[in-house]
Amino acid sequence: MEKVVAKKKYGQNFLKDSSVLDKIIQSMPHNNNQVVEIGPGLGDLTNKLVKYKDTTAYEVDTDLIANLQSTFATQLEQGRLKLIHTDVLSAWDKNQTLHDGKYDLIANLPYYIATNIILRALEDNNCENIMVMVQKEVAVKFTAQVNQKEYSSLGIIAQLLSHDRGIHFDVPPEAFEPAPKVMSSIFYIKKDMSKSIDKGLKDFLKASFIQPRKKLSKNLSSICNKNTLIDIFKELNINENARPHEVNASLYSQLYTKVKNGRN
Ligand code: SAM
Repeated sequence: MEKVVAKKKYGQNFLKDSSVLDKIIQSMPHNNNQVVEIGPGLGDLTNKLVKYKDTTAYEVDTDLIANLQSTFATQLEQGRLKLIHTDVLSAWDKNQTLHDGKYDLIANLPYYIATNIILRALEDNNCENIMVMVQKEVAVKFTAQVNQKEYSSLGIIAQLLSHDRGIHFDVPPEAFEPAPKVMSSIFYIKKDMSKSIDKGLKDFLKASFIQPRKKLSKNLSSICNKNTLIDIFKELNINENARPHEVNASLYSQLYTKVKNGRN
């Protein structure tokens, strides 16, 4: 393989610690789903994934594609690996899903678009499990519980759409080449395939957390009449002084419906 220089613009931090790669494989969900990997990079994780599951991998970097094609010539020929050379976000824009059929997303994500990717995977009706490496701060946000200071719109959306979510383990910078500046974590979301949320709720949550340390009622005053809001808070038993992170996901969902419908 030709020497590859990691490109910052594509968030290339290659995972080189084989014990971490093995731990990822051991944490994979047990089911018959195919795997989708975003950003196979030099193929170290891909190499382990294809041993267990048929895999579709999306890679944007033209320079890496030729290497991957020669490294995985056999698996590509046998149809165990499908390599798609494109920006994964445009693939989602085009097809709404990354795979025709149930799949699990397992990847060491490019950190510069990790949050966006996870939100898209949560919306993708064919994606059943998400198990990805991201910077620790992002993993904590998606897995936070009510009353934790990190509980925000990301944690609420993930909670409303899942059966279960959590952090598997942390990974230090030295496990990568080049080493990122931050700590990383592998986390998972087991989606509840019967659930969906509408775009309006996302905007509502954005407004709810616009100033995270202020009162929720203050943040919502820009989109809802103050007296109506006081009544709705009373009906739902939400303390009028509650801060945004102190209200649970189910209450947010009910609050949104009442505000949208003008109370009822
Ligand atoms: N999987 C490899 C590993 O674990 O060593 C590489 C992970 S590296 C953190 C992120 C990978 O995502 C890189 O290969 C990068 O080129 C790729 N990537 C970045 N942006 C992408 C995009 N928009 N669509 C698809 N792949 C992308």
